[in-house]
Amino acid sequence: MFEGLSQRFDQILRKITGKGLLTESQVAETLQEIRIALLEADVTLDVVTKLVDALRQKLVGAEIAKAMTPVETVLKELYLEIVRILGENKSNIQLSSKPPTIIFLMGLQGSGKTTTVAKLAYHFRQSGKRVLMVASDLQRLAAVEQLKVLGEQVGVPVVLPKENVTRPKDMYPDVRRRWIEGMHEVVIIDTAGRLSIDEDLMQELKELKALYNPKESLLVLDAMTGQESVRVAQAFDQKIGLDGLIFTKLDGDARAGAILSIRSVLGKPIKFIGTGEKTDRLEPFYPDRVASRIIGMGDIQTLIEKAQHAVTKEDAEKMVNRVTKNQITFDDFLDQIRTMRKMGSVNDILSMIPGASSVKDKLDMGVVEKEMKRTEAVILSMTKKERNSPEIIDGSRRRRIASGSGTTVQVVNQVLRQFEQVRKMMRTALKPNGKRALRSMLP
Ligand code: GDP
Ligand code: MG
Repeated sequence: MFEGLSQRFDQILRKITGKGLLTESQVAETLQEIRIALLEADVTLDVVTKLVDALRQKLVGAEIAKAMTPVETVLKELYLEIVRILGENKSNIQLSSKPPTIIFLMGLQGSGKTTTVAKLAYHFRQSGKRVLMVASDLQRLAAVEQLKVLGEQVGVPVVLPKENVTRPKDMYPDVRRRWIEGMHEVVIIDTAGRLSIDEDLMQELKELKALYNPKESLLVLDAMTGQESVRVAQAFDQKIGLDGLIFTKLDGDARAGAILSIRSVLGKPIKFIGTGEKTDRLEPFYPDRVASRIIGMGDIQTLIEKAQHAVTKEDAEKMVNRVTKNQITFDDFLDQIRTMRKMGSVNDILSMIPGASSVKDKLDMGVVEKEMKRTEAVILSMTKKERNSPEIIDGSRRRRIASGSGTTVQVVNQVLRQFEQVRKMMRTALKPNGKRALRSMLP
C-alpha cells in the first residue's frame, strides 16, 4: 500500500544528516522534495500547499526537542500533518435510532460497489446485526447474480428483482415488506454504475435515494484511480449528496493522492477501506494508521507513546545499535530483554515494528515471555567473561550455570541457542528502513 510515496519519503529523509538544528537550507530543500513527492502521488495542489506550509511553520527555526534528531523531527511533523489531513478521528457508520439503518452505495462501474455491499453486510453480521442486501443494479444481469452468490457466501439474504421489474425504484415495496417481516436492522443497497458520470445515472440515483431516505449515502472509489476520483466524488456530492466515502483496492497499487486530497476538497470522511477481494477484507478507516502506512513506518504513533513512557533515549539507542550491528553479547541480550519488558509485551513491540510481523507469526508469545524470565535467570548466572564471549561456555560451565540459575543443562543449551536465534531474528526484522523506524520511535 502506498509504496511509491513511502519510498520517496524514505529517500528524502535519508538525505537529512547532522544532529543539531535543521538549517534553513535543509528545511527548504526537504520541503521542496516533499512537495514534489506529494504532487507526483497525485495529491491535489491545494492540499499539498497547505501541508507544506504547515510543515514549514513547524520546522523553520524550530527548537528541536533535545531527545530528537532532525530526521525524527521532520518525520514526526510530517506524520502529524498527514493525520490531520486525513481527519484525525475514525468516522463510524451512523446507525439509525429507529431501525433499519439504510446504507446506500454508489460509484462508477468496477469501483467495487457490489463487493463492498457484501463486505459491509458481513461486517454488520459479525457484530450480530440482522442484515438485508438489495440487488438493485438492474443495468447488468450479472450484478444481480453476483450479489446473490455473495449473499450465500456471507449468509445474508438478498432481495432480487421480481420478473418484469426493470426500474430499481419498483423494487422498493418488496424491499420494505422484506425488512419489516425479517426485522432487519441494517439494509444495504447496491446500485448501478456507469463508466463515467452521466445524467441518466444521476437522475436514477437521486430518485432512488429520495425513496429510501438512507442514513448513510456512501461513494465507493477505486484507490488506484488517483486524482480523477476526487472529481467523481465532487460530482456525486453536488448532485446526490454524500455522507462519506469508501476506498477499495488498497491492497493493490494504491495511490495516496485521492485519499489525502478528498477530505480537504470535499469535507467528507472516509469511513472504510477495502484491502482485498474477499468479503472480510474491509477495515474501518483509522487516519493515524493510514498515515503511518503512507509514510511507511508501521504503527509509529503507538510506539512513540510507549517508548516515551518506558525507555530512556540511551536505552533505546543502545538497543537499536546493537541489534543493527549484530554485535549483541549476553549483557546486551539481558538489557534488551529488560527494555522490551519495560516497553510492553514482545507481541506488542513486534506488531509495531515494520517488517517484523512475519517474525511474530512464527512465535507463540505466551511461551516467549515465560522464556524471557528464565533466560534472564540463566544469563545472571554467567560470569562477565562468559557473557562477552559465549563461545567459551563449555560443558562444565554449562553445568555450573544451570545449577546457579536453578535450571538444567538443557535449559542453558536452549538459552545459548535462543541467543543465536534472536540475533538472527532481529536481523530479519530490521530490514532496510527498520533502523530508522526504530530510531524514529525513540522518546
Ligand atoms: P462494481 O461494478 O462497482 O459493483 O464493482 P465490483 O464489486 O463488481 O468489483 C469490481 C472488481 O474489483 C471485482 O473483480 C472485485 O473483486 C474487485 N474488488 C473490489 N474491491 C476490491 C478490493 O478491495 N481489493 C481488490 N484487490 N479487489 C477488489
Ligand atoms: Mg456491481
